[in-house]
Amino acid sequence: MIPSSVDRCAGIRRKGVCMATLIDWNQELARKGHRVILSGVPVAMHCHHYNINLHKMLEDTMGDRGAHLLFTAAEEAIYGAFRSIMAQYKKIRTTNSKLELASTIYQNCGLGVIHFQKIGPKGGRIISPSSHHVTGWLAKHGRRDRPGCHFARGWIAGVLEAIYGRPTGNYSVVERECKMMRNETCTFIVKEG
Ligand SMILES: [Zn+2]
Repeated sequence: MIPSSVDRCAGIRRKGVCMATLIDWNQELARKGHRVILSGVPVAMHCHHYNINLHKMLEDTMGDRGAHLLFTAAEEAIYGAFRSIMAQYKKIRTTNSKLELASTIYQNCGLGVIHFQKIGPKGGRIISPSSHHVTGWLAKHGRRDRPGCHFARGWIAGVLEAIYGRPTGNYSVVERECKMMRNETCTFIVKEG
């Protein structure tokens, strides 16, 4: 299931040990018949046409409520999946290892690249130099005049709530810069509350 071009160890080595090999990816990200399973949870794999049409429809018809719906859906999905993975792989103990695992999962699921630049239990700063939703939006609709990575914001909130042992809804995530606006990177600021 993992694309051969993905370096499973990218940035995830501790004393020469590849942390990512602790994960049995054939089990955690597998295909069973027509279903794709991430850590026991069935996931839907969609192309950018579906994802961006869903995104645009929600914004066009519901405005900020539609964007928030995308946020909470992504938040809840990764919150449950990441907690399940952490419960199964107790050797991944440190916060840094969990953050690096989160980046790897984001990449392995084809969502893009995220770097937790400065992060702690009270929040921090995250950048994304590349993402599925940015590429998809620009291909279909071109530059936009406000940030649009609602899925990524929710995903970041959910995975950090799982890592820091917080309930969903604990973090707000604001996107300060967005590649959909032709900024150099997407930049996310995370805060409590
Ligand atoms: Zn963005």
